[in-house]
Amino acid sequence: MSALAPGSVIGILGSGQLGRMLAVAAAQLGQQVHIYSDATGPAFDVASRHTVGSYEDTKAIAAWAREVDVVTYEFENVPLAAAAAAAAEKPVRPGARALEVAQDRLVEKQFVASLGLPVAPFATIDSDADLTHALQQIGTPALLKTRRFGYDGKGQVRIAAPSDAATALDQVGRAPAILEGFVDFEYEVSVILVRDLGGNTVSYDIPINTHVDGILATSTVPSPLPSSIASKAVEIAERIAGALDYVGVLAVELFFVGADAEAPLVVNEMAPRVHNSGHWTLDACPVCQFENHIRAVSGWPIAPTDRSVDAVMTNLIGADVNDWQALAADSDTCLHVYGKREARPGRKMGHFTSVSPKTQS
Ligand code: AMP
Repeated sequence: MSALAPGSVIGILGSGQLGRMLAVAAAQLGQQVHIYSDATGPAFDVASRHTVGSYEDTKAIAAWAREVDVVTYEFENVPLAAAAAAAAEKPVRPGARALEVAQDRLVEKQFVASLGLPVAPFATIDSDADLTHALQQIGTPALLKTRRFGYDGKGQVRIAAPSDAATALDQVGRAPAILEGFVDFEYEVSVILVRDLGGNTVSYDIPINTHVDGILATSTVPSPLPSSIASKAVEIAERIAGALDYVGVLAVELFFVGADAEAPLVVNEMAPRVHNSGHWTLDACPVCQFENHIRAVSGWPIAPTDRSVDAVMTNLIGADVNDWQALAADSDTCLHVYGKREARPGRKMGHFTSVSPKTQS
């Protein structure tokens, strides 16, 4: 398929801040954006068009898809039936298989393991008996995670001792789950990879990520990851992207266990979309993750991912956003506010990137 010329319409499922930043990037390339969402969101403010409808309404999704040239999404919990309804009308990029894998932790672990890539030991948990057995196999500490709809540390409970098992199952609402062995990592990193229609890939410098209360707090580049390990991380992301015949930006979150470990890197999870740990690319790279995603799904050449400056991205969660005036006054700080009406606790309201001269080539 040839590239979608400027003036084409990119359909985005979801109206959050990721959709908003994708829409801004699309506008820069002369593309239009038509958002489909079940609720008003910050992407509406910057999109050419929006449609409000249920993600379960496959007829409405199909009608929307007929009005766009290509479909993409900004969240991984798009119902597979919605993706199929859209795919019957227009190309969906990344494809439905990426959604299927990313929205179920069990399928995701099995998929990553099937590629021969390292993951934490895991087991399927559908009952108390499953959990008792899995705890014997995997040991403690361990994490019980719901298979679906877990994000930002939600839907997961740490099990310190086998006696915590029943309470842990209650805490995740007895939903289908997996038990995951605890990885004693040094730190967390992520690969933000872009793959085009022809299978070419580029990836950004790998940030080190910190979390507070399960939510990403900061992403910093350069990371202290040894360069030989960084190359391995990129290879892991390329394997995953290749196996999914992926198009667009793919994020792969990894635990760095230690350079001398048998498996220095362990895959935690993937996100089939632009990612919070790649937001610093807006201010530190000539072409950011959002533009590269729009380029890839439009069938355009993807652009180099070179970084011009060092960067620390910090999320503004809840009331943090009230510091906007001080942040706006700092000349080394790039401020991004998502335009959400209400600063609820735990809600991602914006982020800022502190930039400084580049220290590593
Ligand atoms: P997740 O929602 O799976 O990304 O988990 C949220 C955070 O919990 C991760 O960023 C890690 O800090 C921590 N975590 C998740 N899984 C494990 C694990 N198997 N071992 C140690 N820490 C974990």
